[in-house]
Amino acid sequence: MKEALSSLLDQVRACRICADKLPMGPRPVLQIGTNARLLIAGQAPGRKVHQTGVPFDDPSGENLRAWLGIDRAVFYDPEKTAILPMAFCYPGRGRSGDLPPSDECAPLWRERILSQLPNVKLTVIIGRYAQLYHLGSRGKATLTETVRGFHEYLPDVFPLPHPSPRNGPWLKRHPWFERDVIPALREAVSKAV
Ligand code: SF4
Repeated sequence: MKEALSSLLDQVRACRICADKLPMGPRPVLQIGTNARLLIAGQAPGRKVHQTGVPFDDPSGENLRAWLGIDRAVFYDPEKTAILPMAFCYPGRGRSGDLPPSDECAPLWRERILSQLPNVKLTVIIGRYAQLYHLGSRGKATLTETVRGFHEYLPDVFPLPHPSPRNGPWLKRHPWFERDVIPALREAVSKAV
């Protein structure tokens, strides 16, 4: 029998499985509603999101919403948009940015939560970790090649780089992203929602 969504979310919110590795402690940040047609499969919350509890309420989120061509009302409506990072809690900071998402989170929770989202028409995959999980062997050797081959994964999946402002140099090196990928992304999102 399918789990009740509210009970599953209560379990996630009480989760402390990798608490010892989280410098600011557990605070799972995710958004889901069973009618959502767009799924944002991200990496892990950043420090600011850990503090507010609101996913992508930061400069990365502003970039992402601009790429998707949707406003905050659609983005933060759980019955339209589900937001599910690979790990739900802030992993802390390393030398060159945030640490990778906890590798304990996805095996424990991801399939159970995805099973609550039967209406998703488009999964937007952000970054390498979500790409590995959602595309597996369908992904290419690098994130850049996978993003460039986005048309191979349509109509149900769209791979993106991370929208962090730290990725500005990547965007400059790859002008085809804004020219070719963003218009196709907006079209795919508009069809899905
Ligand atoms: S990252 Fe995931 S597994 Fe770890 S404490 Fe948070 S919810 Fe639990």
